[in-house]
Amino acid sequence: MTHELNLYNQYLYPCCIPWPKKPYVLIDSNDCEKAIENYLSLRSSVMEQFNRTGACDDYCNACPFLLEQHWLGAGKIKRITLSGTGFCQFRCAYCKVWHRADEPKSDFPLLIKALKNKKLIDENLSITLAQGEIAVHPQRDAIIEACGKYLTKIFTNAGIYNDKIEGFLKSNNNSSLLVSMDAGTKETFAKIKGRNSYDRVCRNLKRYAQAGGKIELKYILLPGINDNTEDVDGFINLCHEINAMSVILSNETSNFANTWNSPLPFSSIDIARYINENALNQGFAVSLIFFNQADIARIQHRDL
Ligand code: SF4
Ligand code: SF4
Repeated sequence: MTHELNLYNQYLYPCCIPWPKKPYVLIDSNDCEKAIENYLSLRSSVMEQFNRTGACDDYCNACPFLLEQHWLGAGKIKRITLSGTGFCQFRCAYCKVWHRADEPKSDFPLLIKALKNKKLIDENLSITLAQGEIAVHPQRDAIIEACGKYLTKIFTNAGIYNDKIEGFLKSNNNSSLLVSMDAGTKETFAKIKGRNSYDRVCRNLKRYAQAGGKIELKYILLPGINDNTEDVDGFINLCHEINAMSVILSNETSNFANTWNSPLPFSSIDIARYINENALNQGFAVSLIFFNQADIARIQHRDL
């Protein structure tokens, strides 16, 4: 909360965690400077309440990522995420972003400019261009240019190869792609992504990799859909083909607030172990995200 900013359509949030009670402000008519002031004031009041009482009834309570600590005063922004833009040509089963294509949007380059004007950007800023799909965003080129030389992670479905993205990956050594494949076969890919584009995505990823792009591949575990060894083997194979920078294994988050504390069924743990062990044994760094600590321990230790 102290140093993050997430632009989601017309809203500014302190995080992109799918938690229903996070603080937010509306950006009215793209007056970014005013919205930033409102946001900083809300952030200070939430942090002040936590510091004083240990809780804040309106925001953040019970969020599993809430740390027990004394928050220091407002810092500069070290991480900015653009998410939920609604522009996407895919129809992933677990994603609500594409349902929101018609919602009003704010201007990401304007937000970066306003933060610069207000001298609020930390020198080590990192940017994440998260869901939807940057390749089909009407402001694509301006958004990519606004990322400049900052450490930038671009989420893409890679269904469309884009020269601007390739050029950015080449010109900014601090940039990388993150692609959620979630499958290792055409059939499962089509079922999850709502598009029959597995081969084209694999081709595009190889092309980005050949152009020198660094790529992380993600596998969102979807019980009953992709929790089988055939898909995982195909996924790991693709990791090799594109020399993936790392592997991210994620729990599904569409019902995150309700399921966070429930243990995953053994069948899911079993396949999560299979992915984790195979990826590690084959030399890939693995991150486990959106699993609770007990499930992370079960995935990493077969005796639990
Ligand atoms: S405590 Fe949770 S909901 Fe609140 S800002 Fe942090 S991650 Fe977001
Ligand atoms: S590719 Fe990304 S933004 Fe598009 S539908 Fe899938 S998860 Fe959502």
